[in-house]
Amino acid sequence: MTTELTHYINGKHVKGTSGRFSDVYNPATGEVQAKCPLATVEELNQAVADAAKAQVEWEQVNPQKRARVMMEFVRLIMRDMDKLAEAISREHGKTIPDARGDVQRGMEVIEFCIGAPHFLKGEYSGNASTGIDIYSMRQALGVVAGITPFNFPAMIPMWKMGPAIAAGNAVIIKPSERDPSCPLMLAELLTEAGLPDGICQVVNGDKESVDAILDNETIKAVGFVGSTPIAQYIYGRACSNGKRAQCFGGAKNHMIIMPDADMDQAADALIGAGYGAAGERCMAISVAVPVGEETADRLIEKLVPRIEKLKVGPYTSDTEMDYGPVVTAEAKQRILGLIQSGIDQGAELVVDGRDFSLQGYENGFFVGPHLFDRVTPDMDIYKQEIFGPVLSTVRAGSYEEALKLASEHEMGNGTAIFTRDGDAARDFASRANVGMVGINFPIPVPLAHYTFGGWKKSAFGDLNQFGPDAFRFYTKTKTVTSRWPSGIKEGGEFHFKLAD
Ligand code: NAD
Repeated sequence: MTTELTHYINGKHVKGTSGRFSDVYNPATGEVQAKCPLATVEELNQAVADAAKAQVEWEQVNPQKRARVMMEFVRLIMRDMDKLAEAISREHGKTIPDARGDVQRGMEVIEFCIGAPHFLKGEYSGNASTGIDIYSMRQALGVVAGITPFNFPAMIPMWKMGPAIAAGNAVIIKPSERDPSCPLMLAELLTEAGLPDGICQVVNGDKESVDAILDNETIKAVGFVGSTPIAQYIYGRACSNGKRAQCFGGAKNHMIIMPDADMDQAADALIGAGYGAAGERCMAISVAVPVGEETADRLIEKLVPRIEKLKVGPYTSDTEMDYGPVVTAEAKQRILGLIQSGIDQGAELVVDGRDFSLQGYENGFFVGPHLFDRVTPDMDIYKQEIFGPVLSTVRAGSYEEALKLASEHEMGNGTAIFTRDGDAARDFASRANVGMVGINFPIPVPLAHYTFGGWKKSAFGDLNQFGPDAFRFYTKTKTVTSRWPSGIKEGGEFHFKLAD
């Protein structure tokens, strides 16, 4: 039985009116389990108009009270953690512990937003010139939008909702049409937490509603997360329509393994970072770069038995799985196509997961784990983001060559180095042309009080997601220069002034 999903507008679930839907699968079985409504331009514009009306009062609510809504939101997220995680796993396919992590990392940003009163403070220079004071204040933009990807249906909507709302804006969330249930549940929890109706609108849709967001004059800022071509498109159209835009794209994260690295630690890290969530993470490690032939041989030797032991299966399984299916049949076909291109272009397929099949789940979108060795930079599996359980090994002759690979790839989201040498680690952190760096740490997603953002084609625009940057992105600065004429500070007058 398929469920008809809704939008969430003005504090209520609302049926779609377009008559257009996209299928939401259970990736473990391959069955369509729900239909996601795809909004019309009119539906989107109405949700924005209602948000704009509600925002006027919300901006006047003092920041501490807005922060209290965030505090209550955190409590409700913790209360409903199991339900949220189940909704994610059901539509995305990731394991329950991984889905809980998705919720957790989003919730940490909401916790950070409880500090909104602090981040909204302005600056003040008393007596900047004789008798003149200058001060600045941060004011909400009005209505902003967040367009989010399928791979973190809790975390990334929360990265958009939290700072935008705490800063006094109303936000339109356009989640991925592949797994929209969790964002709808989060919006419902915000209402329960005391958020006024209209401040968080979830409008489901596809390109039609995204384009309506980009062309809507009331929307002042767009935060996007997804693949690079769409990020670049959205950045261009949003900017040319005069909006603020920060658009985060795809990745190809390299992990450098130096000869002195603890090889067991490096192999364990690669297994989690390469195959966790079936490789569907923008911070997944997809390229291992061992330095030196001997390091490469030792690494492959450690990796193979670990990969062969990986447990792949549905989130409902009694035994704990390492990863689940990929999100759709198209995603699976694309991954298998890239694997074939790797073979055709001469890479060595050391672990071949192509014949992976799971009894009872033959129609699910499972992809077995793959390991390539002797990948070279001209191959498609090196150039493109595979977004699947496929790890490529590029053997580097020296540290400089490894550094150059990570630095010169057109993507620059994350990278890592595994070494015992502080000098190499320090040099790598300073010189890598990549936005987020891990030292003996494979997935360096910063905590909520820092900020998240890649470089090069992994991000378009300035300012990162969450952390202090998010409050800068979602507010505009007003600066006031003030002078007062001399007043009554001489005190009261107790006699009639004599005429001159
Ligand atoms: P996607 O680009 O297909 O979709 C992202 C959003 O854009 C969705 O809401 C979708 O409905 C919308 N969209 C899709 N096609 C569109 C079009 N032609 N016009 C307008 N809107 C469109 O991305 P995805 O497959 O959902 O997510 C995976 C991608 O996201 C990967 O490339 C991954 O690396 C990236 N990602 C990046 C980050 C980051 O912070 N850099 C984080 C998570 C995921």
